[in-house]
Amino acid sequence: MARYAMVIDTRRCVGCADCVVACKTENNVADGFCRDWIVQDVRGGYPDLQMEIRSERCNHCENAPCVRCCPTGASTIAVGGIVIVERDECTGCKACIASCPYDARFVHPEGFVDKCTFCIHRVKEGLNPACVSVCPTKCMFFGDLDDPDSEVSKLLKARPNHALFPEAGTKPKIYYLT
Ligand code: SF4
Ligand code: SF4
Ligand code: SF4
Repeated sequence: MARYAMVIDTRRCVGCADCVVACKTENNVADGFCRDWIVQDVRGGYPDLQMEIRSERCNHCENAPCVRCCPTGASTIAVGGIVIVERDECTGCKACIASCPYDARFVHPEGFVDKCTFCIHRVKEGLNPACVSVCPTKCMFFGDLDDPDSEVSKLLKARPNHALFPEAGTKPKIYYLT
């Protein structure tokens, strides 16, 4: 069984938000909401400033509090560790939203909770997630952490990287190359 992850090169991301638009189109994301978003993280002080541009989304955590706290089992782990929401099982109680340290979930206007699915429908067909496939700077990579020959495994071995809020203990699976 695979252990899917995303690796994003912050040195090549230009913040164009093509990934955000592609996700909305591919997944018919509800008006006024996004499953992914761009963060401009500025650190330091003038004249020694650094900016990291990140395309962020659900981290498909290995130790996912949203799955543990869901009272109906709607939040669950699918093939390759992809965290999904079974919309028919979701009551919209928002427990998962409260438990997610990444603010990755929202209530769909139809009452269920929605978020990034790692485009599981595409992955099952052997395709990359929509956001990965459209990136004009080719800075996003998707693959299996358990396969030492996958591009994501090789990149994580070769380049310094970080994940978001590792201290939360959720074991996030989106990695940012620095
Ligand atoms: Fe960055 Fe690629 Fe998204 Fe553009 S499409 S914002 S370059 S991750
Ligand atoms: Fe759950 Fe949030 Fe982790 Fe996604 S990022 S798996 S919604 S805790
Ligand atoms: Fe959207 Fe799919 Fe990218 Fe997740 S993996 S942000 S659902 S396009």
